[in-house]
Amino acid sequence: MSYAPPIQRLVTELAKLPGIGNRTAQRLAFHILRQSDDDAAALAAAISEVKQRIRQCEICFNLAEGPRCRICEDERRDRGVICVVEDSSDVIPLERTHEYRGLYHVLGGALSPIDGVDPDDLRIAELYSRVLEPDADVREVVLATNPTTTGEATAHHIADGLRERAPKLAVTRLASGLPVGSDLEYADEVTLGRAFAGRRAV
Ligand SMILES: [Zn+2]
Repeated sequence: MSYAPPIQRLVTELAKLPGIGNRTAQRLAFHILRQSDDDAAALAAAISEVKQRIRQCEICFNLAEGPRCRICEDERRDRGVICVVEDSSDVIPLERTHEYRGLYHVLGGALSPIDGVDPDDLRIAELYSRVLEPDADVREVVLATNPTTTGEATAHHIADGLRERAPKLAVTRLASGLPVGSDLEYADEVTLGRAFAGRRAV
């Protein structure tokens, strides 16, 4: 037996979400069907609003409601330090540690030749431009890519690129102590804060 086309369409769309298999997609679809019209409409509206209003910051590529994100717009942030992360979802856990007062740079992923992710696919060139901009005065770049194979490879690649282009710049990496192989976004605040405070030159 197959579902009516509108249900099947919802199941298909839900199943495209990460971590949602066909089974879960069906369960969610039936949950939405049981919801009140208002709740279901609120979900649909939230999805379309986030797509309409949220874009990437023109400076750091973090999520922004407008041309620049709140962090880049904040005059109190230290413009001399740039923390490089893989995804915009990594910014929130780092902010929660309250260890960091500088700016960010969101790469949009990690280098992974097997998956066809090359330096050109990430915002690495944009990072170099930010650092080399004559009146930028960047003192330090903190490489906060994930402690995974691809995250480490990305950090090494960028560290080499920065050393070549800006020999005087301090390039640091988060201290060890983060669970190896896991994502930054799942690290707890205390561990992440400690890793940040104990960052070392690479
Ligand atoms: Zn920004």
